[in-house]
Amino acid sequence: MRTYFDHNATTPVAEDVLNAMLPYLHEQFGNASSSHFEGQQARHAVESARAAVAEALDCDPQEIVFTSGGTESDNLAVLGLARRYGKPGDRILVSSIEHPAVREAARYLADIGFRVEWIPVTPSGVIDLDALDRMLSQPALLVAVMAANNETGVVQPVEIIGQQCAEHGVYFHVDAVQAFGKIPVNPVTWQCHTLAISGHKIYGPKGVGALYVRHTIDLTPLQFGGTHERGRRPGTENVAGIAGLGAAVKRMKRLLSEVTPGIREMRDYLEEQILAHFPDAVIHGKEAPRVPNTSLISFPGLEGETLMMRLDLEGFAVSTGSACASGRIEPSHVLEAMGVPKELARGTIRISLGMGNSKQDVDRFVETLTRILPALRSSGCSRSL
Ligand code: PLP
Repeated sequence: MRTYFDHNATTPVAEDVLNAMLPYLHEQFGNASSSHFEGQQARHAVESARAAVAEALDCDPQEIVFTSGGTESDNLAVLGLARRYGKPGDRILVSSIEHPAVREAARYLADIGFRVEWIPVTPSGVIDLDALDRMLSQPALLVAVMAANNETGVVQPVEIIGQQCAEHGVYFHVDAVQAFGKIPVNPVTWQCHTLAISGHKIYGPKGVGALYVRHTIDLTPLQFGGTHERGRRPGTENVAGIAGLGAAVKRMKRLLSEVTPGIREMRDYLEEQILAHFPDAVIHGKEAPRVPNTSLISFPGLEGETLMMRLDLEGFAVSTGSACASGRIEPSHVLEAMGVPKELARGTIRISLGMGNSKQDVDRFVETLTRILPALRSSGCSRSL
């Protein structure tokens, strides 16, 4: 029996989403750019999905660009805004806890001469608004801050940041990949110019996402070769994927109101149980507002990777708070930015709950931890692996 506790990595495709996709993989195979009947069927699927995404984001359908996922959406926004409106030497302010999809795009801009500066976070993983305010006292081109962090689940004050950016006339990109489907997301009230979402985090398919692009914004595209997506993202549309994203977004409304409270209760119960059994465990970002499903927990004296692999053998899928760089396990840049000591950061796992989970799963998980953790701690394989 397997228990999946890694919904921030990806989610299973919901059955009704799969059913919405299937026709476009088979009998309704038209190219959405063709003018004949088959093409019109595909175009209809793409445009209904666009309307569904626009409704969920409370924006105009023309402001939605379909992409191959969150990574492309983030890249298109950060690179597209910088290339269209900026020039080497311009300042780009990026939060120090961004996903690599934004971080690495910013690093590329640094390589070609932009001045990238990292916005610090507080120990609970929230953007340091005073620091950002000071950074904005000098001219800047672009600010990029995620709506919710993928590791800690901490929700960022994007509405306040949007206001700060508006006051300084700075472009604002929001990565809402982990927020979408977990908390209300609204690019208009957040005053952002671009906002990224991804299908596979909301029980939709992998390899499809969208970028909200405010109607006044003109992005330099990442690729060239056609007029698809009004030239902002050329390439024959992934019609089945887009139809799946549309279906996932439609059912998400129900998710937010019906399922979320139960998931939050389960997450809080999990944390309560873990702290009761392991009082030295540290839950990162617990004091800050968080999305309802995420727990990032450090167990002092343990190696997160070892614990994750042992839990895998016991039937639980979780992830670690570290990244494997050139064969060495490095603590995550998020925990580092929060000032968590390296030693503690190394013993971190992330549990992200989702729709298939139950309180019984949580009970079995805590039971398993109480059985395996003392042995892992005393076996000496904790730190040395
Ligand atoms: N941004 C955040 C915050 C994410 O968590 C992820 C995926 O984990 C991405 C961007 C990338 O999305 P995708 O996997 O659709 O490329």
